[in-house]
Amino acid sequence: MASHIVGYPRMGPKRELKFALESFWDGKSSAEDLEKVATDLRSSIWKQMAEAGIKYIPSNTFSYYDQVLDTTAMLGAVPERYSWTGGEIGLSTYFSMARGNATVPAMEMTKWFDTNYHFIVPELGPTSKFSYASHKAVSEYKEAKALGIDTVPVLVGPVSYLLLSKPAKGVEKSFSLLSLLGSILPIYKEVVAELKAAGASWIQFDEPTLVKDLDAHELAAFSSAYAELESALSGLNVLIETYFADIPAESYKTLTSLSGVTAYGFDIIRGAKTLDLIRSSFPAGKYLFAGVVDGRNIWADDLAASLSTLQSLESVAGKDKLVVSTSCSLMHTAVDLVNETKLDDEIKSWLAFAAQKVVEVNVLAKALAGQKDEVYFAANAAALASRKSSPRVTNEEVHKAATALKGSDHRRATNVSARLDAQQKKLNLPVLPTTTIGSFPQTVELRRVRREYKAKKISEEEYISAIKEEINKVVKIQEELDIDVLVHGEPERNDMVEYFGEQLSGFAFTANGWVQSYGSRCVKPPIIYGDVSRPNPMTVFWSKTAQSMTSRPMKGMLTGPVTILNWSFVRNDQPRFETCYQIALAIKKEVEDLEAAGIQVIQIDEAALREGLPLRKSEHAFYLDWAVHSFRITNCGVQDTTQIHTHMCYSNFNDIIHSIIDMDADVITIENSRSDEKLLSVFREGVKYGAGIGPGVYDIHSPRIPSTEEIADRINKMLAVLDTNVLWVNPDCGLKTRKYTEVKPALTNMVSATKLIRTQL
Ligand code: GLN
Ligand code: ZN
Repeated sequence: MASHIVGYPRMGPKRELKFALESFWDGKSSAEDLEKVATDLRSSIWKQMAEAGIKYIPSNTFSYYDQVLDTTAMLGAVPERYSWTGGEIGLSTYFSMARGNATVPAMEMTKWFDTNYHFIVPELGPTSKFSYASHKAVSEYKEAKALGIDTVPVLVGPVSYLLLSKPAKGVEKSFSLLSLLGSILPIYKEVVAELKAAGASWIQFDEPTLVKDLDAHELAAFSSAYAELESALSGLNVLIETYFADIPAESYKTLTSLSGVTAYGFDIIRGAKTLDLIRSSFPAGKYLFAGVVDGRNIWADDLAASLSTLQSLESVAGKDKLVVSTSCSLMHTAVDLVNETKLDDEIKSWLAFAAQKVVEVNVLAKALAGQKDEVYFAANAAALASRKSSPRVTNEEVHKAATALKGSDHRRATNVSARLDAQQKKLNLPVLPTTTIGSFPQTVELRRVRREYKAKKISEEEYISAIKEEINKVVKIQEELDIDVLVHGEPERNDMVEYFGEQLSGFAFTANGWVQSYGSRCVKPPIIYGDVSRPNPMTVFWSKTAQSMTSRPMKGMLTGPVTILNWSFVRNDQPRFETCYQIALAIKKEVEDLEAAGIQVIQIDEAALREGLPLRKSEHAFYLDWAVHSFRITNCGVQDTTQIHTHMCYSNFNDIIHSIIDMDADVITIENSRSDEKLLSVFREGVKYGAGIGPGVYDIHSPRIPSTEEIADRINKMLAVLDTNVLWVNPDCGLKTRKYTEVKPALTNMVSATKLIRTQL
């Protein structure tokens, strides 16, 4: 009986890769220093899996930035603007694509399926040239082999790669990306040939798009791609890995008929229907990689339940062809519970991070093989029972209040235009009001203050005065820049979800439970283990303090319930919507307290609203209904004169515009710069809707400083579509990852562009 891991976190147990990358980018360390950190991480991961007894250990799941960008590099599909001249792609071209450079903006980034991981979107067109330009997959395989570990090299599958791409600028939207299959397959063949020559006996192609709603043409691409690769792959065991949802019946049929493929991987956690498909027909002689250990949460597996699922599959695939696996790459969970010193033993016993999941996979494989570790299973059963019965999990009152919300509507009584009129009487803002999204640069000094306060190295008074000073600095900067609606800069926040979770009950926090979000950026999702309530006001003190420093309106800044939910590890013992309603009630209290404290503009960020959208269209309506309802619950009780803003990050909004309108916010700020003005149609809808809209006028994810002309040009383009009186001017997102030397000139240009255009109206 064998065990397999789909993929493993790259950042390291203490985010070693993040620090190495950032120091390299800052010019503080060399490429060799970076490579050394990377090599050490890879070898420790491989060794750890080997020691745990994992048979099929993945390689090439490490990345300096992103596995899709790695594939773009492998294929030599570098967009022209990076002036790459061929040969093996070096770090400078690679990081320019990822992050932009002084002269050229980065490639677009978008969410990886329904996770909080972002990948770099390939830009392709009919004239795209391909060449084998990154030998990373092969060198990683050899690197592991040199350590005595024979791995399964993992590649993003050719069809998923194309389906995740977008037509490059200037290329017809109707351009068929799949028409490039014939051009990229020769490179895949070269890679496969090299892997074989290096001694690989297995290869894994990740083809997660197979779980999406695909049309016949797209499905046919899978059949032809693998038929084309068949001879190149002969002699290898070929695993096609799917994950993140049930696989539709048609796709299952296509997948299990692919030529040259010997093994299929499925997400059994999100795939109750997939199990039925597998049970009703599974091709003889093929391997079944059963992803029973959840790669997307931090809960200890229910080993007894998994074992019985696995046992029921033995007769389907045959004892020797059933492989115990994870539901998806473990890069979507935290790294190692061993480093958790803050969590108490009870909660810890309920959890399993990547390193523990590796052990669970192996324990299950051994149990299937008749070597059941009774002690391990018994401890697991006891932990599960303690979680079920713990009084820390249940709060009857909250439970009742949240259940009572179902089915009701919760809307503000007055319509948005009338509300905006009432607000304008109080706020008296100029046309094209300027604002920012919330956070200002988080300096080293600021992080030190927070860290020392947390560690009780400085007193509360010292902490408060340091934060006040920071807020004052941010307020003064904004006044000098002549921004209209101010923010306090969020200096007291480490993270927009953690900050709230730490003050809500039902949440637990890890010290090192980091998960990669994009590039070197990681998030540390809170763990929602119990019913959620708000014992005390969370932001009122800081917002009041900030407002007292200026006569301009100061935005109260909250994170919305859907985003808190989507960016947390959520309990798996009740439906997601129930947890979301509980959070909404807690945020509602905060909104009302801010209003009572005299805050006239409150921004409730729903950065991750779209992120929670189920992968399958048939499930969208239900999710959007409770998600949008949760948002409205937070602010349905405020006065007309209180202006509710919301903010959303990189997303494709076209298909959810009606839900966004249904949120009924007074002003929406939305990321725009990196998505090539795809949102124009959304703005058009916005005109009809009448709410304020602030599509970001520049990209904050890049250090590049936009010129006044460039911003003015963007504003003019927006004005061609939008009414003057609904448009707001703001950056794409929060500024916390930028430096003051970037933020000040960028905002100066943003304000001058706005003023210039005001004079032209
Ligand atoms: N208010 C948050 C900030 O500015 C919003 C961040 C986000 O949308 N991701 O940091
Ligand atoms: Zn954002």
